[in-house]
Amino acid sequence: MPDEKTAIPHKKIAMHQDKKIALVAHDNKKRDLLEWAVFNRNLLAHHEVYATGTTGEMLAKKLGIKIRKLQSGPLGGDQQIGSKIVSNDIDFLIFFWDPLEPQPHDPDVKALLRMAVVWNIPIACNRASADFMISSPLMEGEYNRLIPDYDDYLKRNID
Ligand code: PGA
Repeated sequence: MPDEKTAIPHKKIAMHQDKKIALVAHDNKKRDLLEWAVFNRNLLAHHEVYATGTTGEMLAKKLGIKIRKLQSGPLGGDQQIGSKIVSNDIDFLIFFWDPLEPQPHDPDVKALLRMAVVWNIPIACNRASADFMISSPLMEGEYNRLIPDYDDYLKRNID
């Protein structure tokens, strides 16, 4: 146990048994994500699944489960997911971004990854990480995410 005097202050955010999972894939990675999602269909089926527009369209057709579709990524879908992370409406992100092709919405991609780190949500950016994450025993129950206590930051002196 960390010493109470030296421990970094944190707050806890509860992730419930049924998790709110966002799935996003860039065009060259969509097949990869689709294959992964088909393999994990039954696991995904009892969570709340969100996706950016085109990814969501493909997933809905292939999996036959409810997918909550947002705007297409380059048209603002990544930002919508980022905003849902901030309001605690997404708590798990599978994001197969393409390391070999520049994206028109690169700033949004970066912003989404940044929000995931700020709010300490699990993120997987490739298939192996997604496999490890989805098969973790932590998926099966409630989990308290530790968030740094940002109160000091909010009260900082800006004079
Ligand atoms: P899309 O968006 O699912 O609408 O293709 C993905 C992305 O580029 O973020």
